Amino acid sequence: MVYERAEILGCRLDVIDMAGALQVVQDSIQSREPSQIITLNAEMIYRAQHERQLIDLYSAARLVTPDGIGAVWALRRAGWQISRRVTGIGLTLKILDMAREKNWRVFFLGGEPGIAEQAARKLAESDKPLMVVGVHHGYFSDDESPRIIEQVRAARPDVLLVGLGAPRQDIWIAAHLEVLGVPVCMGVGGTLDVLAGKAKRAPRLWRRLGLEWLFRLINEPGRIKRQMALPKFAWLVLTKVRGTGRQPRPS
Ligand code: UDP
Repeated sequence: MVYERAEILGCRLDVIDMAGALQVVQDSIQSREPSQIITLNAEMIYRAQHERQLIDLYSAARLVTPDGIGAVWALRRAGWQISRRVTGIGLTLKILDMAREKNWRVFFLGGEPGIAEQAARKLAESDKPLMVVGVHHGYFSDDESPRIIEQVRAARPDVLLVGLGAPRQDIWIAAHLEVLGVPVCMGVGGTLDVLAGKAKRAPRLWRRLGLEWLFRLINEPGRIKRQMALPKFAWLVLTKVRGTGRQPRPS
């Protein structure tokens, strides 16, 4: 799968749509090469301005998709043609559809105790059940990582979805990618909560209007602190991306 790599405020961001991202997932499973997928939003790009190690982490991943309207806007402003976001939850749902079809083995790691199990139970209820080969909650210390890694390895998943919140989930995957040996490892934020039925996804119209962030803010007012990064991100894009960061349109 060939796609362009862009750079926004020093952060690598791939110019790719959902179909392309799914192709990368399929390629990784076919090659069995351990690969990290990051869905990168505006908040994380802003955070990387102060935590430079995140910039290296994004560079090393197999794929970094534009997660959210802010990331897409920044890419467009830099001159790239990109139509839609590739969000963590959107990509997860597509991967799970494909996993059902192709009998891929999936492992859920993250969320409060019971959430990953609940998500697995719900997904087993459908006509074409999903093969969830293991689950573990996301409230563990670094000392417990070796035990969890062993559990994942023993389950031999094709896809590992890690919902510990960003950037911890992405840092954890990068640190253990090789030893985990899983072809597709992806940080999914609060997606397991949605799959378990604990949290609701924004309605389609809100998503179409690029207002998923507002829906989440209304439902989880505690997010305001994190979302304070958004106007700062917007300011940086407005002042820095046009001109110095401008990329040629890919032909
Ligand atoms: N979480 C976790 N372990 C932790 C902290 C958080 O498993 O130590 C889970 C939490 O239960 C939730 C997810 O990580 O399911 C965080 O979701 P958030 O909404 O922060 O992520 P986003 O979707 O915004 O990336």
